[in-house]
Amino acid sequence: MDLVKKGQKIMMSNYQPFPVVFETGDGVYLYDIEGNQYLDFTAGIAVNALGYQDKDLQEALKNQIDKYTHCSNFYYNEPCIEAAELLTKLSGLDRVFFSNSGSEANEGAIKLARKYGFLNKGEDCNKVISLKQSFHGRTLGSLAATGQTKYHKGFMPLIPGVIHVEANHIEAIKNAIDDNVCAIMLEVIQGEGGINPLEQTYLEQVKALCEAHNIILIFDEVQTGIGRTGELFAFQKYGIQPDIMTLAKGLGAGVPIGAIVAKEFVGQVFTPGDHATTYGGNPLVTTAAKVVLEKVSKRAFLDHINTVGEYFEKQLKALVTQYDFVLEQRGLGLMQGIAVSLPVKEVVKKALANQLLLTSAGSNVVRFVPPLIIEEKHIDEMIDILKRVLKEVSDEN
Ligand code: PMP
Repeated sequence: MDLVKKGQKIMMSNYQPFPVVFETGDGVYLYDIEGNQYLDFTAGIAVNALGYQDKDLQEALKNQIDKYTHCSNFYYNEPCIEAAELLTKLSGLDRVFFSNSGSEANEGAIKLARKYGFLNKGEDCNKVISLKQSFHGRTLGSLAATGQTKYHKGFMPLIPGVIHVEANHIEAIKNAIDDNVCAIMLEVIQGEGGINPLEQTYLEQVKALCEAHNIILIFDEVQTGIGRTGELFAFQKYGIQPDIMTLAKGLGAGVPIGAIVAKEFVGQVFTPGDHATTYGGNPLVTTAAKVVLEKVSKRAFLDHINTVGEYFEKQLKALVTQYDFVLEQRGLGLMQGIAVSLPVKEVVKKALANQLLLTSAGSNVVRFVPPLIIEEKHIDEMIDILKRVLKEVSDEN
């Protein structure tokens, strides 16, 4: 294919895309330029929350394009304030900063926590504790927070002051805390690390430690947020509210937007000149966020995610019973994974050849993050293909 060849030559080669070119999407399916249909259990890596061609989203974006798409943060714009208001109402947090991606949101959250530490405990209070196997992004600060050394190689030095500790081990965090720690940052379910949920009691203990030591608790909900786990934010599933939450991915359902959402006591420490971005919060992307938040926060929509999620989980657990190469089901709601003793990249590749879009996570996990509008019949369709694919990969290895 000419386009694939051109892409291979002209694009930097960090992504190594599969030789497929998608032309259009509809619901939970994508169509390539030859008209082949693909069932999408990747959703742009947990981005396309509303699937493809959501009429409300399309209409709202088209309307906004007809008005204007950008004006800079020197001025207020209506969609931005309305999206921020929805975020605060729905999270119980108080202040919002819009960024353009998850990495940027985390980068800004680290700055916010450092400024808080600086003001309250002095300039040495700048250390951030994050977890091993975590993923927080690829910019130098968010990459430093990412607890996987394989992503660091070749890019040192990263920002100093980040300590990685074992997940779900409260003693490890206790040992790392001193007067110079300003923040603890974590994903309540580690996504890229392999769909690893943190334990309820662990999160409760971390929260208590943060309160006792005046440390800012940051939840990176870039992947878990916006309904993915069956509540609008995963922290609501656990009943543990962070001081700062970061969002991206599903928030724009396909347009690039991220957000830092914070409690007043920390959100108010940014003052003019501290942090900024040209595009962040422009009326086009915040129009998308508004539509997404209005739709996904509806109880009926969240109930749908929980119901379908439970059904999905049951089907995945059945695979564990059925095949010895399927080791474990992990996850919550529509953020699911199976650990396999098969080469996971081959599973993903063969799934694509069978017109099913999947991604991997960690070293041996097949990850499922479909559009949130998925129905049981799509899960049945997916499981049928998956069984075939797993069997074929198993026979070949
Ligand atoms: N945090 C988490 C939990 C993520 O999963 C990701 C992306 N996979 C990021 C941050 C980075 O987001 P982005 O790619 O939008 O910068």
